[in-house]
Amino acid sequence: MYGPRGSITNNDLPWITPMAQLPESLNMERRSLTFSKKHQLTISKNLAFLILFAFIVCIVVTALIAHYVTLQADETRCKLQLDQQGTHAPHDGITTPSTNDSTTIDHIDDTNTTHDVETTTADTSIDDNNVTGAKYLRLPRSVLPIDYDMRILTVMSNLTFYGSSVIFVNVTMATDNVTMHAEGLNITCEDVRVVEAVEGQTVQVVSCSTEKEQEFYVLHFDQPIEEGLYNITMNFGGKLRDDLSGYYASNYKNGNETRWIAATQFEPTEARRAFPCFDEPAMKATFRITIGRPNNLTSISNMPLMSSTTSELQDYTWDEFQRSVPMSTYLVAYIVSDFKPRTIGNFSLYARDSAYSQTKTAADLGPKLLKHLEEFFDVPFPLPKMDLAAIPDFSAGAMENWGLITFRESNLLYEEGVSTKKNLQRIAIVIAHELGHQWFGNLVTPSWWTDLWLNEGFASYLEYTATDAIFPEWKMMDQFIVDDLQMVFNLDALKSSHPISIEVHNPNEISDIFDRISYAKGATIIRMMEDFLTTSSFRQGLTNYLNEKKYSNAEQNDLWLSLTTQAHKDNIFGPEITVKDVMDTWTLQMGFPVITVNRTDKQISLTQDKFELNRNNISTNYSWWVPLTYQTKSGLKGRSWLSKDSKTLTLEDINITPSEWFLVNLNQTGYYRVNYDDLGWSLLETQLKEDHTKLDPKNRAQIMNDVLSLSSAGYVDYSVALNISTYLQSEEEYIPWTATLTKMNFLFEMFQRSGHFDKFKVYFTNLIQPLYKKLGFVDVKSDPILKTYLREVILKKACQLGLSECIEWAHTEFRNWMLSPNPDNLNSISPNLKSIVYCTALETGGEQMWNFAWQRFINANVGTERELLMQALGCTKEMWLLNKYMTMAITPDSEIKKQDAILVFRAIGSRIVGQTAGMRFVISKWSEINTYMGKSVLAMNSILSSVTSNLNTEKELEEVQMFSKRYENDVTFSQRNAKQVIEQTQANIDWMNKYFHTIVEWLTNYEIQLSNSNSSQR
Ligand SMILES: [Zn+2]
Repeated sequence: MYGPRGSITNNDLPWITPMAQLPESLNMERRSLTFSKKHQLTISKNLAFLILFAFIVCIVVTALIAHYVTLQADETRCKLQLDQQGTHAPHDGITTPSTNDSTTIDHIDDTNTTHDVETTTADTSIDDNNVTGAKYLRLPRSVLPIDYDMRILTVMSNLTFYGSSVIFVNVTMATDNVTMHAEGLNITCEDVRVVEAVEGQTVQVVSCSTEKEQEFYVLHFDQPIEEGLYNITMNFGGKLRDDLSGYYASNYKNGNETRWIAATQFEPTEARRAFPCFDEPAMKATFRITIGRPNNLTSISNMPLMSSTTSELQDYTWDEFQRSVPMSTYLVAYIVSDFKPRTIGNFSLYARDSAYSQTKTAADLGPKLLKHLEEFFDVPFPLPKMDLAAIPDFSAGAMENWGLITFRESNLLYEEGVSTKKNLQRIAIVIAHELGHQWFGNLVTPSWWTDLWLNEGFASYLEYTATDAIFPEWKMMDQFIVDDLQMVFNLDALKSSHPISIEVHNPNEISDIFDRISYAKGATIIRMMEDFLTTSSFRQGLTNYLNEKKYSNAEQNDLWLSLTTQAHKDNIFGPEITVKDVMDTWTLQMGFPVITVNRTDKQISLTQDKFELNRNNISTNYSWWVPLTYQTKSGLKGRSWLSKDSKTLTLEDINITPSEWFLVNLNQTGYYRVNYDDLGWSLLETQLKEDHTKLDPKNRAQIMNDVLSLSSAGYVDYSVALNISTYLQSEEEYIPWTATLTKMNFLFEMFQRSGHFDKFKVYFTNLIQPLYKKLGFVDVKSDPILKTYLREVILKKACQLGLSECIEWAHTEFRNWMLSPNPDNLNSISPNLKSIVYCTALETGGEQMWNFAWQRFINANVGTERELLMQALGCTKEMWLLNKYMTMAITPDSEIKKQDAILVFRAIGSRIVGQTAGMRFVISKWSEINTYMGKSVLAMNSILSSVTSNLNTEKELEEVQMFSKRYENDVTFSQRNAKQVIEQTQANIDWMNKYFHTIVEWLTNYEIQLSNSNSSQR
């Protein structure tokens, strides 16, 4: 399946090459860290003696430190001063201190030039015995990596790679084996050499074994080796993978020619598929990477290129990169490609040549965002350069590899006049997210994946705050409420949700938690924390945490400690409260509270309970530390705490009259819903109808989202929510509308599946009518971004409701495009309205329109345009086209790239006709899809969720239950995700039984009132 290119064939480099036959330049033997005379080190005896002496001193000092300070005899922290320029000149990794202090690069902090390179050092604090139930899946701590010196030859002609590495390790206790990770690699045991680093004695490797489930590769010795420093030399190789993980092949079309590149994706557990390593986040080491690549291509890696030398292999060059700072294996990256760079200072953008013009926007945004983050953390970015690369085939959205961030094209590349404002915002926030990781994740890394949320929650929060700093007019912090906070409530309300901080053991379980709970809930509780700590205390606490833990690992308790210390110092709260007390209630428990507000003449009481979708199963053993904020109509504001140990807080002597509303959770900074008594709701309703602008748009969004959720779970009557919703006729802001639509889409779909859609249509058309008329069909370039978004969502709803003017407009626009002499380059449809025009036209446009869009998709050179078209192709109501589309999505070498298969199912699942077709297709072809997607838990979760969110019949429930049972023993099948789907379906069925008829009744009355008022107006 791989197109041959280049001059080397398999015959030149046999698949498994014995050491003696390896090309000289690939042979790592001479690079090993050793002092033995018999090896080919190019250092003098005197220097070797000096280094040996330095070593002994170092070991002694370390032993003393270890004894007196850490009392952990097995933790050897050996501070070795490396070449400050990152060179590894004599290939020994250990040089005398350099006198060259010149740091010409902005981002290098002078104070970092020595301790940056502390070579340590996995976090040995993990007690194997504490890794409950999964001890055997973790690496033993007896051997810790310090430095990897790797050469990787990438042969593009047959899409293979040949590697050789010397891993410099610290053996912390006598052991008769070295256990590391390797998966799917060809390794010849006879080639493996283990040499004691000081004396140079070779250790006999008697055998090698693999442990499949653990993905271990184990070297066995005839007798235990002593504590000390060793070099392990190994050769390895393999095919470039085709499942977008490990070291994999990607391609793109340049005219009729297919061009191949090679790129890496290692998070969470895929580095072991590219080279043998200690593939756990706490086992940090430095990396010296040398890439062999064909002369007509270039290579990039985490660190800057140090030198390029011609290889003895014809047409090949070796690129040697500077030694990295200590980092986790999952952050290593290298790319061999023909990409054309766009460089501004230390920032470079890499993309295929034909997309060069599309890198301009990111090249402008990237440095600004990085500068903002440096200032925000008050911790300099420690690497000398930053590269952002757009990979034609990429499984996730982007990946934060240190110094070399990789992206899906649509998340980095922007074409003026083709891409939309939403694309621009997306690109900004994805770059901000990945840059945020350079501190949260890369500089300080969770000790284990249990605390993944520390990485993803912070990056997900920083993506908003950093973008907000650059584009305040985008109101990112308002958008946060609807895009993250309110969205994650839905998932977290399920009993099959999970706490943010969760024990995970094997690679599938680890992948499973890259979900909205880790990302969006993580970000939400961080935002809440910033609010109660104050921004200045929060920031200072973060800076202290990053400085204390840099280049090593941490757990959430470490962060809580730094923040508590700062909070106490700043008198944010008294010594009796800690951040840990508060935050443990949010990270160790799943779900969230609903705060019920009751008022009498003199007092207001606030009571906490766990929010339940099904109120027949109330959990009583949940409680939180809830930061409360409130406001009265007259403007009085206050803050208070509802402690974990108290169910109710009573506010006495609040200066409030019976006719004044009382609002809780200002700007929805707290991660909880608020319910009011009848009076409370009715006063808010009156205010919204009299003058809604007296309330902040964020609070209008909160009220609508809360009341619709509370009514769908039976906390308040649906009539309360629907009565309040009629204020929307005068609402003109994007945030409250989106907050409403998020919940209303559910009603919309439930009614579309029933015989009463006509009634719903009357009600909803009446709500959007004023705005629909006002906003019109013209995308005004100078409109603020949120007004552009608002026009998009309102027009989308208008077309979905079947309003004839909207549908005619969309068809006319699309047909005009079809008449264009060069439709690939001349498209008169405004970019921001394309999604509605495309989808509406294709919904009923039949085969001809579908084929036209399909051809545009194939020809598109801009990733964002490809994605818009992919979404639209799923809008058709023709069942056979849907099935054809899904089949192509899982067919190798079809026009749909593997990375985009998820988008096909998402597009189809988002439409009412597609949902059922999608569910049946996915269930019946699960194994086939799973195999095609490389058994990626993340991808499969996304596919299943996309096509099942609106199922609402017993029959469908039965189908998903049977399906889940069929795969209950398949380790690549996420039982948690399946449980969520089943629970959601059951909840939808319950909802239909409990509330559907109440709503129909309300809608009927609404229709009568409307026609009465219309006739009286006449
Ligand atoms: Zn992330």
